[in-house]
Amino acid sequence: MRKSAPFICANLREINIQLMLIDLRSDTLTKPTPEMRAAMFAAEIGDDVFKEDPTVNALQAKTAEIFGMEAGLFCPSGTMTNQIAIRVNTQPQDEVICDKRSHIYLYEGGGAMSNSGISMKLLNGERGILSVNEILENINPDDIHYPHTQLVALENTCNKGGGSYYRLDRIGEISALCKEKGLRLHLDGARVFNALVETGENPKEYGKYFDTISVCLSKGLGAPIGSVLLGSQETIKKALRVRKVFGGGMRQAGFLAAAGLFALENNIERLKEDHRKARIIAKTLSEMAVIESVMPADTNIVIFEPKQNWKKVPEVLQLLAENGIKAAPFGHYHIRMVTHLDFSEEMLGELLVRLKKLFV
Ligand SMILES: *Cc1c(COP(=O)(O)O)cnc(C)c1O
Repeated sequence: MRKSAPFICANLREINIQLMLIDLRSDTLTKPTPEMRAAMFAAEIGDDVFKEDPTVNALQAKTAEIFGMEAGLFCPSGTMTNQIAIRVNTQPQDEVICDKRSHIYLYEGGGAMSNSGISMKLLNGERGILSVNEILENINPDDIHYPHTQLVALENTCNKGGGSYYRLDRIGEISALCKEKGLRLHLDGARVFNALVETGENPKEYGKYFDTISVCLSKGLGAPIGSVLLGSQETIKKALRVRKVFGGGMRQAGFLAAAGLFALENNIERLKEDHRKARIIAKTLSEMAVIESVMPADTNIVIFEPKQNWKKVPEVLQLLAENGIKAAPFGHYHIRMVTHLDFSEEMLGELLVRLKKLFV
């Protein structure tokens, strides 16, 4: 049948392609699949402020178990889990050491400074990845003139570093330094599973090294909402109080937790697919004359710089948008594309065709 009607097929294909929108602005843009929606719809629920939502309890326990930590706390966003973590790990006037590209510094509205009254010592790691020596050199002496260094915060993968990631041996070294110096160690693990599928390392090891870990379910894992903060029983008890104060106590949140559980069970291994696609996009871009540079696509993030004498970033974004491709500006000179669950193989093929046509 198909072979006897080639024209119809060809025409349909063209129509589809014209309509196909390719949205790579973020891996938060995914919509729950029918299977995830079914899991949400079927969730057993209760009032979580009374700790009576069985699905929220299950999600918290499962996430904690995956990372070898004692307890978890479900929150509406990764910003909230990070903000709570900074609050429970510090006192006002303390200092937090982190990379200058950190989400906690750049993209949380300055909240850490007002919510926790801390200052930040910003380091310039390699694409956001810190070394033990850089941290050691930036721990303040025990002298009343200096803020008291109290917390080190790592980001894995590092968004602004183009999806760069830590290996466990580095994390172990940093953790040993923190223990020796009496500092706490937090992980902004919004995309920690992207790092883990790439290194093949066991998430359980993380529990030995971090005091708190923030894990996002709404990025590559494809859930609509939610992050989990992990820590010891004692830390999570404090975190629960802070979440209440921040207005993050939710009621029948099991509908959302069910999506998170579904994501943990089904959407981790497939992140490798997103990474493979990101590498193909990066390679294609790196071979184009109008592109100045492309960061190595270590995971699912592609950051590239168009040549200044070709087009400015807003012009490139407009050209892309007019051709059904959405990407995000990343500073004045760079553009970011993030691959995700809703970016299909067909879209990848189509993206490459369009880029080759437009970027000349
Ligand atoms: C997305 C993200 C977060 C949390 O963002 P929310 O939108 O608040 O969930 C935290 N850290 C990093 C590195 C992120 O990319």
